[in-house]
Amino acid sequence: MNLTAKVLIAMLLGIFVGLTINVLNVEVFDNSLLADGAVLNEYVVNGFFHIVGKMFVNALKMLVVPLVLFSLICGVCGIGDIKLLGRIGSKCFVLYLFTTAVAIASAIGVAATIGIGKGMNATSDAQFTGKDAPPLSDVLIDIIPSNPIQAMASGEMLSIIFFAILVGISILMVGKKARTLVETIELMNEVMMKMVGLIMSFAPYAVFCLLAKAMANLGFDLFFNLVGYVFVLIGVLLFHMLVTLQAVLAFLGRLNPFVFLAKMRNVQVFAFSTSSSNATIPVTLRTVTERLGVNNSVASFSVPFGATINMDGTAIMQGVATVFIANMYNVELGMSGYLTVILMSVLASIGTAGVPGVGLIMLSMVFAQVGLPLEGIGLILGVDRLLDMVRTAVNVTGDAVVSTVVAKSEGKLEESVFNDSSAGMFDKKETDLSLENEKVIAETVSSTDARE
Ligand code: ASP
Repeated sequence: MNLTAKVLIAMLLGIFVGLTINVLNVEVFDNSLLADGAVLNEYVVNGFFHIVGKMFVNALKMLVVPLVLFSLICGVCGIGDIKLLGRIGSKCFVLYLFTTAVAIASAIGVAATIGIGKGMNATSDAQFTGKDAPPLSDVLIDIIPSNPIQAMASGEMLSIIFFAILVGISILMVGKKARTLVETIELMNEVMMKMVGLIMSFAPYAVFCLLAKAMANLGFDLFFNLVGYVFVLIGVLLFHMLVTLQAVLAFLGRLNPFVFLAKMRNVQVFAFSTSSSNATIPVTLRTVTERLGVNNSVASFSVPFGATINMDGTAIMQGVATVFIANMYNVELGMSGYLTVILMSVLASIGTAGVPGVGLIMLSMVFAQVGLPLEGIGLILGVDRLLDMVRTAVNVTGDAVVSTVVAKSEGKLEESVFNDSSAGMFDKKETDLSLENEKVIAETVSSTDARE
């Protein structure tokens, strides 16, 4: 069985086990099953499932910074014409903003037409104190890291991208002399990609644990109160992922959306299980380059850039939530209010990284701007965990669509790879240790020792 099939089965099993625990806990055991100190809670759900899931997410995150750094330096060095870099960057930027704006506009359109939240009573005891998202001026200043090591240590994606591009350009300026350095970085990139494969081979177990835990802990009674919000949101999210983004791929890229979607399944499951576009970068990067045929010179830039600035799913949540809460509090936003929401959401997505739950922080920024009460966010807080999972899957799909379309427009897409359904499939042999390889490396090491 291939890895994608295993991951999908693990996902379904995890959802099933988690939901079963959830239902038993609420219906049969009167919430005592998952109470503090209960065995199932301490040792299984928030014990085993939590530990295995968290270890896996950490392992993915561990790869993000070195992978982005090495692959982007390689990407810049291998681009062949440095002017191309500016063009790729501008194309990605425009398409990311465009898809996000379309996403939020359609969300507002649908939610306002249906009139969700009208006539509902706004009561909530869940409090939400919004954090401030960074102002745009700070975002711009912080793109240039005063200390690259610190930027890497705290995973500041835009700063890392900036630093890696400059290193790449400087290597090109040094020229021939830097050849060994480039070769070394290329090798480091290859080693990191091997690690992605290695870690992915544990994915089925981890995905099971992540989903079983998430589903066991979801408060379903909340869903019934917010059923309109949840359904409209999930409907618009699916529409954007399966129709709007695929139309972009088909019309701008002249590529087959079905082939694309089949290959993206893995990435979407990872995004769904981790709720983080950032932690999914290694999987997105591997899929986009090896399965979809996008050249590393485009993907190494567009994928991490997209994980940071492109959040179509998050924008959709903000659009639907704004209309929902405005209706509940009987606030008339009007055309200018909605335009402000669109503008604010697009800007907020630039300054915030793709990590779990960040969408709500961005929402508080939007609310403050249009004068909606922040307590409104408390109303949707309880159901946000599941919705975060769905919208993150939409976010990463957007990153991959734009990467593929931009690569195609620059002649950096290998269409034979894109159309080959088995290209770049995870192969178990790839991560096996072979005695032969071990010997070769051991001999190399001992021969360098001898030279010393
Ligand atoms: N979790 C989302 C992401 O990583 C962001 C959000 O909507 O909260 O893309």
